[in-house]
Amino acid sequence: MHCRLPKFVEEKDLVDFNEGEKMLRLYPSALTAWERMRTKALQSAIQMYIISAFRSISRQEEIITAKRAKGIPDEEIFKVSAPPGYSEHHTGRAIDIGTPGSPPLEEAFENTDAFQWLLANASKFGLRLSYPRDNDYGIAYEPWHWFFVG
Ligand SMILES: [Zn+2]
Repeated sequence: MHCRLPKFVEEKDLVDFNEGEKMLRLYPSALTAWERMRTKALQSAIQMYIISAFRSISRQEEIITAKRAKGIPDEEIFKVSAPPGYSEHHTGRAIDIGTPGSPPLEEAFENTDAFQWLLANASKFGLRLSYPRDNDYGIAYEPWHWFFVG
């Protein structure tokens, strides 16, 4: 199933930024697009924050290893996590978006005003939803995961 995902090169051109208490990294133009988009959304009283951004291939390996150590079968792991090398987060152009009042990284995000706003407006900022319901990659529906295509 995960063989349907494309392989990605780990981006080296990244900028650090603070999101709440967290230090995150993104490809420079992806960060600019995000900042513009968030500002625009705020004008409609839509609050959004980034849950995760760039992730290295070695970090992805750690995540998979930790899940296996908990006894989670690969079949379950790879429904929600890409194998190392196959995550869009390696490119520094993928962001997981959250909004106050909705639990992070859960399908319920689709019921938020933020998600409806993103569906209507994200493409104007060069972002697209990577894993819609029943996507061809065999990846679980991720309404929170958006990718900067430019
Ligand atoms: Zn993601």
